[in-house]
Amino acid sequence: MTYNRSNVFARILRGEIPCKKVYEDAHALAFHDIHPQAKVHVLVIPKGAYVSFDDFAATADPAEIAGFVRAVGHIARSLGVDESGYRILANHGADSHQEVPHFHVHIFGGQPLGRMIQPE
Ligand code: AMP
Repeated sequence: MTYNRSNVFARILRGEIPCKKVYEDAHALAFHDIHPQAKVHVLVIPKGAYVSFDDFAATADPAEIAGFVRAVGHIARSLGVDESGYRILANHGADSHQEVPHFHVHIFGGQPLGRMIQPE
């Protein structure tokens, strides 16, 4: 899949549409999900143009990967969910129901999250 620069997260990165920003550094931008599915539901996206986790894992620079992973951990701690627990989730492709084709990690927390997967 080729990267489509008009996807909604690319537009947020370019400042074309607003977001409820939680954190930003050289490697990552984090903001609240527009349709939260838990008390805490934050999305973390890399600054680079990656379609999904698969693209990011295969092609991102190691410094970018390290910076992004560090940012996710930092954001979870700053949200105060590291003690109570949280879940990170990245959807890739059709079976996962990935909606936005710019790699993103969901951070869920702030409440008991139930079992991991709810098959259709
Ligand atoms: P996924 O199914 O993993 O691609 O998840 C995409 C997520 O992006 C969903 O949870 C949406 O609610 C969220 N989303 C879509 N548009 C926006 C937006 N403009 N601001 C914040 N979150 C969004």
